[in-house]
Amino acid sequence: MKIYNTLSRNVENFKPLKEGLVTIYTCGPTVYNYVHIGNLRTFIFYDLVKRAFKLNNYKVKHVMNITDVDDKTIRKSMESHVSLKEYTELYTKYFMEDLQKLNIEMDTKFTNATDNIDEMQKIIVKLLKEGYAYEAEDGIYFNVSKFKDYGKLSGMKVNGSYSRIKNDEYDKENASDFALWKYWDENDGNVYWEGKLKKGRPGWHIECSAMSMKYLGKTIDVHCGAVDLIFPHHENEIAQSESYSKQKFVDYWLHGEHLLVNGQKMSKSLGNFYTLRDLEKQGFNPLSFRLMVIDSNYRNKLDFTFENLKKYEKLLAKIDLSVKAFNKTEKYDETEDSYSRIQTKKVVDSELQAFKEAVNNDLNTHEALQNFFALLDLADEKTKKGKVDNKEFSYLSNAISKMNEFLGVYVDYEIPKEIIDLAEEREKERKEKKFAEADLLREKINEKGYFIADLPNTFVITKRYLE
Ligand SMILES: [Zn+2]
Repeated sequence: MKIYNTLSRNVENFKPLKEGLVTIYTCGPTVYNYVHIGNLRTFIFYDLVKRAFKLNNYKVKHVMNITDVDDKTIRKSMESHVSLKEYTELYTKYFMEDLQKLNIEMDTKFTNATDNIDEMQKIIVKLLKEGYAYEAEDGIYFNVSKFKDYGKLSGMKVNGSYSRIKNDEYDKENASDFALWKYWDENDGNVYWEGKLKKGRPGWHIECSAMSMKYLGKTIDVHCGAVDLIFPHHENEIAQSESYSKQKFVDYWLHGEHLLVNGQKMSKSLGNFYTLRDLEKQGFNPLSFRLMVIDSNYRNKLDFTFENLKKYEKLLAKIDLSVKAFNKTEKYDETEDSYSRIQTKKVVDSELQAFKEAVNNDLNTHEALQNFFALLDLADEKTKKGKVDNKEFSYLSNAISKMNEFLGVYVDYEIPKEIIDLAEEREKERKEKKFAEADLLREKINEKGYFIADLPNTFVITKRYLE
């Protein structure tokens, strides 16, 4: 498997620390608001990285932090007059809902920053003792000049003189000593911890170092984030972790590009700021956004427009219909290996092979999607004929399932009994050539949010998608 490593600025052959296992740490959300679709692009990217390793038969151990204490969460919770915990729990819940709607695999250890304060303090105490950190009047800072490899990830030049920055929103142009522990002041209200250090709270960067090392070990295989985290966040994570452990922190650094909206950076002031809920309100299925993300390779910027999203909504409808219709097509057994059977096997094998190669080529998900659609087209051909040989059916449906284990764009769901009954009634009318009655029933099914398609000898019901 080949993957681009930001640390070496090269596409490298992936080699895990332990055979058969990949340890992955991904920077999670700061739960002060709904996450926006730009953030969600990143979370889908993490999911694809994970699924790519699984496709290659690796076992995956994945940890993601939930940043439930920082400048913003404290400020917002105070403005809302609720406790920090109550405030962040609400947005954590919404975040989890978004992940599930996007069919992101949840076999992840999610861990709150506030549940790992002891670990952070332990690291800070050692950094202080060994001279990598120093105390100032308002907190404890990491001394960037003490870490000789500073800048190795981002290429940021360091010149030996640094200002100090306490805020969580950092200067992106200059290296600065950064806060490991911020002493309490009145802006923090009742948010503080004591223990091994003076009353205060952790800085943002130390959270990820502590959680990654605690749950996955001092050196891990893969650390992912969006490109804007390379500097200073990831640079700072490396500095404090490696100063603490005297070991390499991460072997492979993977970064996902940004999402633009109509060619511009998303921002509240431009009125182009969207959450998944905004897409749903306009009638889109969340998986159409997943499909859009998959169609664009993770190292390219993705330009989101609603026009474009409509295209993916249509593709999503096609996937749903193709799979369901193929499953419902009548099966029969050829007595021997027919030409058609041999041909189908050949096409299926070569598409599946090409699919895996695309995924393993630095996650070329755009290519992989073409292979998936090629198999769906072949399945459509069989469906149109009205019957399919059992063996050909299993070649095709197994390969489609295998690809979908990676893509995660087809998710089965229950059709309510009420809808099935209406559809059967319609089929009866149709067979009796009462087409006007049948059309009325079709409309009724439509109004209830479902779609009915006719096959040669039967029919299939799917959700209704935006047209
Ligand atoms: Zn992080």
